[in-house]
Amino acid sequence: MPVPCVRVPVEDGEATRQRLADADLLVDEYAITHEDGQLYIPVADPDAVPGDLAVVDFDAPARETPTTPADLLGFEPTYERLGDVVILDEDDPERAREIADAVMRSDVRAKTVVNRASKIKGTERVRDWDVVAGDGTETVHTEYGCEFELDLAAVYFSPRLATERHRVVEQVARGERAFDMFAGVGPYAVPMAKAGAEVVATDINETAVEYLRRNAERNDVADRVTAVAGDVRDVVSGAAGGAQSDGGRERGGYEDWADRVVMNLPHTADEFLDTAVALAGDDCVLHYYDIQHEDDRFGPGERAVRDAAGRDYDVTVETRRTVRSYAPHEYNVVLDVRLERR
Ligand code: SAM
Repeated sequence: MPVPCVRVPVEDGEATRQRLADADLLVDEYAITHEDGQLYIPVADPDAVPGDLAVVDFDAPARETPTTPADLLGFEPTYERLGDVVILDEDDPERAREIADAVMRSDVRAKTVVNRASKIKGTERVRDWDVVAGDGTETVHTEYGCEFELDLAAVYFSPRLATERHRVVEQVARGERAFDMFAGVGPYAVPMAKAGAEVVATDINETAVEYLRRNAERNDVADRVTAVAGDVRDVVSGAAGGAQSDGGRERGGYEDWADRVVMNLPHTADEFLDTAVALAGDDCVLHYYDIQHEDDRFGPGERAVRDAAGRDYDVTVETRRTVRSYAPHEYNVVLDVRLERR
């Protein structure tokens, strides 16, 4: 559709565009177009254009720039995306509602906007959410080429750990045995299986394990993932029932089984170190997550692993890494520790 445009030679384009912007005459709905050495700059009010500029009717195309929440709000809101759910962390419910409305009206792909309503809590590490706009907390999130179906009101999941998870997955060798002690919906277990590992994954949250099984199917690795709901201590010792077949030998549990163990339960992982050591085969890497004060981020974890390993294993800390800041002066850290049986 023809719209009023200022026509200028291309070489005068930027200066003219700036003049029109200063006079608040630019329109966002149509694109500035280049044709035969001339620029056509759509304007809001042709009568207000300075007399030295030529105004013509021109068929300028509609602009395809997506509208962002910031365009509608006039400020840049902070939010995270998990699939098609948008996550806010706003103390003021009015501000949360204002941002949620803008997100829904913008071109951001969102079916629901939620605001954090509690800290992560309890054994299952799930938080409460206020649904501020839209409906439903179930979504499909993509991370490094794997798809994860989950309901964030029923399971733990943090997209912020993607880089750290990928760092671990990159260490996995085809054919190794990897045990994920606190697996959630499978963001370590599924890509480790994709990398060729035989994976056993446990979680005490039955809903998380249901999603984990679905995610193994969804990513075509169900044949390499055994997902077990229950307390990992019972699963490893065999108290939870179930048996593993080891070279024709049937026995309960997973003792002496693993080449790699992932322990992503940062506040209380130390309480599970005896179980991790029981799981470890002759040569096994533990990925031990911890939350510690900035003054000594790695010392307490390292001492706890050495205590648990006792005289049975040589212990080598291969990596000490800060994953992210957790609270003022506190950090989420990881130790990659190799246990080699003496
Ligand atoms: N690794 C997953 C991830 O990165 O999304 C989930 C990590 S989340 C911090 C810890 C998980 O440990 C929760 O899903 C919780 O239900 C599970 N959990 C807590 N205690 C457990 C136990 N004793 N045995 C097995 N799983 C447990």
